[in-house]
Amino acid sequence: MSLEAKKSLGQNFLKSRKAINAMIAAPEISADDIVVEIGPGKGALTGPLLETGATVIAFELDKRMVEFLETKFAAQILSGKLILVHQDVLEVDLGQYTKGQPYKVVANIPYYITNLIIRTFLSGEYQPTAMCLLIQKEVAERIVSRDGKESILSMSVKLFGTPSYVMKVARQYFSPSPKVDSAVILISDINREAILSQDYEQTFFEIIKTAFGQKRKQAIKNLSDLALKESWQEIFKSLDINIQARAEDISFKQWLQIIDKYLKK
Ligand code: SAM
Repeated sequence: MSLEAKKSLGQNFLKSRKAINAMIAAPEISADDIVVEIGPGKGALTGPLLETGATVIAFELDKRMVEFLETKFAAQILSGKLILVHQDVLEVDLGQYTKGQPYKVVANIPYYITNLIIRTFLSGEYQPTAMCLLIQKEVAERIVSRDGKESILSMSVKLFGTPSYVMKVARQYFSPSPKVDSAVILISDINREAILSQDYEQTFFEIIKTAFGQKRKQAIKNLSDLALKESWQEIFKSLDINIQARAEDISFKQWLQIIDKYLKK
């Protein structure tokens, strides 16, 4: 059976034990945990996750990998510690597997669906309590606002959790090596506390997408598509925010205050 990496499935297998250890330590995986792994591949992360004593539910799209893992982890599958599912993680009914119990996501994810995976898990019905992900370094830096700038992506993550940068993983620690470096991030304290009402999530994303629509423009200029420029100016001034600021220069906390005032108007 050939196990050559399929580019179309984002297969870059992890070779760094240091990165694997960090991905287990950062979300504090222990024997009590239920861990959802996305794309176990050849099991580089699955084995060490199982060694912690945690129960692992792994979703893998590539049948070749599933067959390989069925042999490699036959004992753990038999004992129920590993639940291996041959399915697209984006189409899975998570509740069926987690049965409403708290769980954490730990995964070296296929880069071509990074945003979709993050969105699906964070805004889904069964949110994890934490996500520890190995993703492209540039995307990781954007999520944690390393340059002090916000983006639609960083805002979408921060609405549900607290992202932090764990470590860089250089491209040579993968086989085959991708064209860019990667990084591990942790999204902790995942919850819906910032979402105040049913409509809130929708309004939040409407405002954020409009405000960040044309990056180089001032936020208020973009936002005037939604409401009068003057009413935005009033909101910004009442919060002591520069009315000429670009969306990316306004912090997540300030955005929550802006949205709060907008909803109360
Ligand atoms: N976890 C392994 C490792 O660290 O070496 C493999 C990581 S590789 C970057 C991504 C894995 O995700 C591949 O095994 C690929 O087949 C799988 N995959 C790609 N798209 C998927 C999807 N939609 N649902 C589930 N698994 C997927």
